[in-house]
Amino acid sequence: MQAKTIIIGGGMAGMSCALRLKAYNRPFILITDRLGGRVLYDPERKENYGALFVMQNYHYARKILTTGRWINTTKVMFHSNHSKRFATLSRETLSCLPSLLRFVKELLIFFPHYERFKRNCLRMPIQEALKLDPFMQAIFDKPAGEFVAEKNLRQAVNSFVGKFIFACTLTSYDKISTLDFLNVSLGLVLPVYLFSFDENRMRKILEQELVLDAAVSVTRKKQGYEIKTHSGQTYKAEHVVMATPAAVTSELLGIPAIRGVSRCYTFHIKGRPKSIYAEKMWNLFSNEYTASALVVNWDGTYMLYTRTPDANLDEYFDTHELIGRFDWDKAMYVHGREFLAERYDEHLLIAGDHNGLGLEPASVSGIHAANQIIKNS
Ligand SMILES: Cc1cc2nc3c(=O)[nH]c(=O)nc-3n(C[C@H](O)[C@H](O)[C@H](O)COP(=O)(O)OP(=O)(O)OC[C@H]3O[C@@H](n4cnc5c(N)ncnc54)[C@H](O)[C@@H]3O)c2cc1C
Repeated sequence: MQAKTIIIGGGMAGMSCALRLKAYNRPFILITDRLGGRVLYDPERKENYGALFVMQNYHYARKILTTGRWINTTKVMFHSNHSKRFATLSRETLSCLPSLLRFVKELLIFFPHYERFKRNCLRMPIQEALKLDPFMQAIFDKPAGEFVAEKNLRQAVNSFVGKFIFACTLTSYDKISTLDFLNVSLGLVLPVYLFSFDENRMRKILEQELVLDAAVSVTRKKQGYEIKTHSGQTYKAEHVVMATPAAVTSELLGIPAIRGVSRCYTFHIKGRPKSIYAEKMWNLFSNEYTASALVVNWDGTYMLYTRTPDANLDEYFDTHELIGRFDWDKAMYVHGREFLAERYDEHLLIAGDHNGLGLEPASVSGIHAANQIIKNS
């Protein structure tokens, strides 16, 4: 089958690209094995097994996701180790006040730069947007550990900011870039909400264009690309947008270097948590624990997020019944600083969270890919 444009991958990047092309009446096919990707919402249980929250400033991701309940960040217990824990409003956090104020000041400086950067990234490659703003270039290149030391933020970060970063990335803050660090940290100062995703509605919107299948090869031809799929179909396209996870994109295109990835295992549990985990709605852990977060859901069930698949539930619960789980062996591409350019060649663009973590960067990259196609056709 011949198509003008083929998008491969239907996560936030692929869906954002598709909706943009549709809005501009550009023909395309979206090939994906599932809609949503790392957004995995169960409408019956009203639970997310993948990404969980959106922030107030997720302007592009929130066009696809339905914003739900506000997450009250004062209802958090931070666990340093088995004998030390403290709440958001506590003597421990107050003792970090000078460091915390410096941290908030850095977020206030970052915020307008980041908003402008996202807008620029809709219409130009990340590298160009970075060149336009030396502040963004500096934080893109700098490991978060260096930034924290330079700005004298260690006390606040070691106390609780680092635990928030670990909960969101399952990675120690000093292993990620300053851009990812500041972006994720905005969740400590901006309103944060749970969300739902209406997969059926998206299927209806894309019913003419959606093909549920998986690409098994993507081969350059004279006039574009040829894509073979798991079901044995062959497609030819002038433009291709690879919106698959970085590891799949790297494998299908033979790209050797991509960012390293953290793992996340989501356990949905009915039961009684140990009393120290029942004091607040949200428990966030230091990286001394295998769990990064334990959260109570709207219906009194619990979500436990861990970095190992064989977590010992007895550590966190007095009684437990596993009612669901999802294993994300490749959860978040946050380790290292490899850059994956969006323009692979004149016919192929790459979209996704390869260069910046989260639903919003993924959406921005998808819209960017669509804008390139719209501009050139
Ligand atoms: C457990 C967990 C919690 C998270 N929590 C948050 C959060 O609260 N907030 C936040 O902002 N971010 C969060 N993230 C990160 C966020 O989910 C991702 O950054 C974002 O969803 C990435 O979107 P994407 O479109 O780039 O990739 P994906 O969502 O991975 O989409 C890729 C798509 O490609 C498809 N695909 C794969 N292989 C093929 C193939 N061969 N052929 C065709 N299609 C293929 C997949 O099915 C999928 O639909 C979380 C991630 C995880 C795993």
